[in-house]
Amino acid sequence: MEKVFSGRYVNLGSLAQEINSIFISEGWESIVQTMSPMMPQGGSQYADYMIRATKKGHMHHVEEVIVRIAGVPNDFRLIIEEEHIGALGRELMERKLIKTIDKEINDGLFDMPMIPQQISVPQPQSNQVRCSQCGAVNSAGSRFCSSCGAKLM
Ligand SMILES: [Zn+2]
Repeated sequence: MEKVFSGRYVNLGSLAQEINSIFISEGWESIVQTMSPMMPQGGSQYADYMIRATKKGHMHHVEEVIVRIAGVPNDFRLIIEEEHIGALGRELMERKLIKTIDKEINDGLFDMPMIPQQISVPQPQSNQVRCSQCGAVNSAGSRFCSSCGAKLM
């Protein structure tokens, strides 16, 4: 099965770790691997994680569940590969994993902090003076503000 998430700015690495820890808390052996291609310039936010969990089921038959998280922070897919999934894996998916992840994503648990906007206020240089009335920057020798006409100190 596959589920698409979009809209939130999700930290996919944290999400992968959370899925991994859910498996472990349910008695599975689980590891996270990153499948992302190497990005030479480091500019891409594309990520591809694979969580591979195994557990011994009936008659020592080993069940395997593979969960993939692939995409960019605000548009990614959660893919559960059903090829080797057995009764235990299916039960965990239906009872806990999908509901938990869905809720935690919607609650914003994995949201990445917004990058603060650069607020650029022009700073007066040594040969400039700022008007105390309107804030405009004038050259140091000016007697009156070129913007509002106020008398400058
Ligand atoms: Zn002024």
